[in-house]
Amino acid sequence: MRINALPSGNGFTFDISHAPEKSLARAGTISTPHGDIATPAFIPVGTKATVKAVLPETMKELGAQALLSNAYHLYLQPGPDVLDEAGGLARFMNWPGPTFTDSGGFQVLSLGVGFKKVLAMDAQTFRSDDVIAGNKERLAHVDDEGVTFKSHIDGSMHRFTPEVSMQVQHHIGADIIFAFDECTTLHNTRKYQEKALERTRLWGIRCLDEHQKLTLERSQKPYQALYGVIQGAQYEDLRKKAATDMAALRSTDPDSPIGFDGFGLGGALDKKTLGTILTWMNEILPAEKPRHLLGIGAPEDLFVGVENGIDTFDCVLASRIARTSAVYTMVGRNNLSNAINRQAFEPIDDECDCYTCAHYTKAYLHHVFRGKEIIAATLATIHNERFIVRLVDQMRAALISGDYFEFKEQFMGRYKHLSGQARD
Ligand SMILES: [Zn+2]
Repeated sequence: MRINALPSGNGFTFDISHAPEKSLARAGTISTPHGDIATPAFIPVGTKATVKAVLPETMKELGAQALLSNAYHLYLQPGPDVLDEAGGLARFMNWPGPTFTDSGGFQVLSLGVGFKKVLAMDAQTFRSDDVIAGNKERLAHVDDEGVTFKSHIDGSMHRFTPEVSMQVQHHIGADIIFAFDECTTLHNTRKYQEKALERTRLWGIRCLDEHQKLTLERSQKPYQALYGVIQGAQYEDLRKKAATDMAALRSTDPDSPIGFDGFGLGGALDKKTLGTILTWMNEILPAEKPRHLLGIGAPEDLFVGVENGIDTFDCVLASRIARTSAVYTMVGRNNLSNAINRQAFEPIDDECDCYTCAHYTKAYLHHVFRGKEIIAATLATIHNERFIVRLVDQMRAALISGDYFEFKEQFMGRYKHLSGQARD
């Protein structure tokens, strides 16, 4: 017997505490069964249930409030059944807080462009719709029902549909999960973008149906919030249509249709128009539901996101560049492998409060990077993740105290712009 088709008191809520006038920006709290997230917040990425080179305990200490893993990678290895049996993603990786999983749509479709991970898409080498057309060189092929793809690990064939993505994400057990979407690139034709958008809308309904079914079947498990994903590339009418459609989307259950708990803003986004595109969507999306910007994490882009109504962000950039010896500082990026750091007996950034900056010098980091020591990745990742987590925390504090734009001016006045958009 159906008792509670639309879970109420399910442990997932979003409360906005501050919303400055004449702005889309807001500060609030997302509550999940595994704890709260004070927003705006940066969510570090642990793609395969680990933030590479850093202990979960350390991630907690440096201020991470939640972690985001990837359904595609965890589906292939170790498999969703293992995570389910372990008691869910958080318990499996010894993370004492909320978790997110990306649906796998982006990763599966990325296979179609040769498993390129950076969304700014160096896809110029591919001709427009070729990127998802699929041929013998492609690893993924999309149709109206789902996506067939070849594992990047062992070459085995797999198929993701909206239903499979929901099943996989329910077994992984993150607090916030995403609907399965078709992620296009800026190089697809307008006609293809329209087709992909409609496909994503129809997949959204199937995700809601499967999510509702699984939530009821697995009612003893902590509630998982489902976010719909808004695509539409660089087109104003498509972005607005997607926001309108996804906000209105409901499951087909005639007795108690459910909608999305929040929204993920996705797709290839051009740095120059990021703010404008976010405004198109966020002026339409219901204000009371949380919004997550997928795969964006460069400091200057985080400001654009916050002031245009984004609540949470994730990006692999902070940890990925750390492993190549690139670190953030208040005046821009520095490369620890450069000879200038050989005798620099000072912290990476003397304004940083991270563990690495408190205990290690650039000269030591230069040495361990040059020697290819494992500790180099650990120390640099701790610094970069702390830098980005703290920056968004500072934006939140400035929103609350009413001096957000002064804080932004002060930060950006010193920080040298460098690009960065990446999902993993
Ligand atoms: Zn530091």
